[in-house]
Amino acid sequence: MKIPKKIRIFCPTCKKHTEHEVEFSKKRPRGAMTHGQRMFKRKMKGYGSFPKENPKGREKSTRKVDLRYKCTVCGKKHIKGKGWRAKKLEMVKV
Ligand SMILES: [Zn+2]
Repeated sequence: MKIPKKIRIFCPTCKKHTEHEVEFSKKRPRGAMTHGQRMFKRKMKGYGSFPKENPKGREKSTRKVDLRYKCTVCGKKHIKGKGWRAKKLEMVKV
């Protein structure tokens, strides 16, 4: 899927539509746990058995798109929506 480098969307800080730069989100900070790690820790904390593995062969072949929008007026970054699934992402100059 192709994504334009600059788009005009609403900025919650400026409270109006401004030009935004699109960028891919960077990897999680060092030391931060993933969602799966947090769930595992929670499960191991209390009573109950060792967590079972998810059935194999049902993995999704695509990853969710995680984009950040940086306002060119105030310079603040924000996210828009939850993202969607795509196999490959490409930035396109417009
Ligand atoms: Zn702004």
